[in-house]
Amino acid sequence: MPAGRLGRRRQDQKTPRMKILFVHNGYESLGIEYLSAALKAAGHETALLIDPCLFDEAGFWRSPALARLFSARAALLRKAAEFKPDLAAFSVFTDTWPWALALAGEIKAATGARTVFGGIHSSSVSEAVIKEGAVDFVCLGEGDLALPALAEHLEGGGPLPAGIWGKKDGSVVKGPPPSPPAVLDALPFPDKQLFAAAAPVFGSGYLISSSRGCPHSCAYCCNSVYRELYRASGVPCLRRRSAENVLTELEAAKAGAPGFVHFTDEVFNSDYAWLEDFLPKYKARAALPFSCFAFPDSRLAALAPALAAAGCFKVQLGVQRFDEEKRADLLGRRAANSDIAAAIKGLKAAGIYVTCDNILDLPDESAEELAALAGFYAENTPDHNEVFFLRLYPGTPLAARCGAGADAPGGLMRPSGHSPLPPGKQRAYFTLLTLLPRLPAFSRSFFAARPGLFGFAGGLGLRMISRLLSRPRKDFHTGRFLHLYSHFIFAKLRGNA
Ligand code: SF4
Repeated sequence: MPAGRLGRRRQDQKTPRMKILFVHNGYESLGIEYLSAALKAAGHETALLIDPCLFDEAGFWRSPALARLFSARAALLRKAAEFKPDLAAFSVFTDTWPWALALAGEIKAATGARTVFGGIHSSSVSEAVIKEGAVDFVCLGEGDLALPALAEHLEGGGPLPAGIWGKKDGSVVKGPPPSPPAVLDALPFPDKQLFAAAAPVFGSGYLISSSRGCPHSCAYCCNSVYRELYRASGVPCLRRRSAENVLTELEAAKAGAPGFVHFTDEVFNSDYAWLEDFLPKYKARAALPFSCFAFPDSRLAALAPALAAAGCFKVQLGVQRFDEEKRADLLGRRAANSDIAAAIKGLKAAGIYVTCDNILDLPDESAEELAALAGFYAENTPDHNEVFFLRLYPGTPLAARCGAGADAPGGLMRPSGHSPLPPGKQRAYFTLLTLLPRLPAFSRSFFAARPGLFGFAGGLGLRMISRLLSRPRKDFHTGRFLHLYSHFIFAKLRGNA
């Protein structure tokens, strides 16, 4: 490194070089915390503004009147102007894209900052995203290396770094293909102060991931997109941190008394040898209750006692549908119902709260399959069922397979019409599956065979009530939801948002 450059870096340790403003909707993003840590390590200043999007939950529900009443947009723009960012950064998925695009235009107008868009939507439909006037740069894939390189590019010029697209004289300019970090232990720990400083609602529960990527390629999931995106780089989609690296972060986190840990790994049980080494060490050194997502494979049931002994209090499993062949063919998920049943039973026997995810409105579902799914849960009942309607995301194999139907409105909380079954029947099963764990055990088979009794209105309210009635005391997602709404509603009423 030239001496002058070194001198500038030393000086930069005291004087931040670029000011990067992250703008995000209400919920903590581990990805943004990693990006902030990488930028700070490179000598830049970062800040976060949260638009809580109260009563306007992208993809889930919206109450326009309440959303307008509790809008925090004006305060957010005022704070953005005060920060004077060089770069405003958005991490978006398809449902938050319209919100982020509109806000990016307003922030550009208010601050003159350039904008960079990352997140799965920007990686899935990069050509469409970069064409927007409010978007100056697109970051493809994980930005831990690309975003600091972009900041350096904005300071000193030169070619665009790997994984970054920009514009010049009205044309799109593309950097080399993205290459994600190959060694996760080399990354700085996530910048937890970023969200804590933005709003005091992120203190309970510590969000962490021991891995990135997934060994599976479900046809509806973003991991199929990332697998293709990273293919040229030679870096595997699934990467795992060392147990020592994870535990060192958690030992530091304990100083903040987070109460519990939530592992955001796509599949926490993707490496059983790693878990057999990690879990006893976690119990000895972290000693915090934790929740995680797991794939219901043939070894999960046997792992349940070790998970419970280490402090696991909740596991969320993807089931998605009943028919094994269709599960593999349409959704790309190879899981046996016998393994799912054993996992539910084994985890519950170990004292772990079990949530199962399910998808309705599938294009090849039948009344017989939904009846079989309800019957399965009457016999193998989790503590809670999360039920979604199919939402097709751009760039996924399932969206390509469904062709013209891919852009149908609805999804997640209401049917889009992918299924040959009438929406009323799907809603009845939504309600039945959601309520089934709340019914007395002796009555479940009776009600599972009578979906017509559940034709009354369901939806998000029903799900929230069902979850609140049964959730474990340290439920990460519901806890954060309640804290977020109470904090920002009171802030608005006090005139601080
Ligand atoms: S197992 Fe989960 S995270 Fe992995 S590809 Fe399937 S849906 Fe995505």
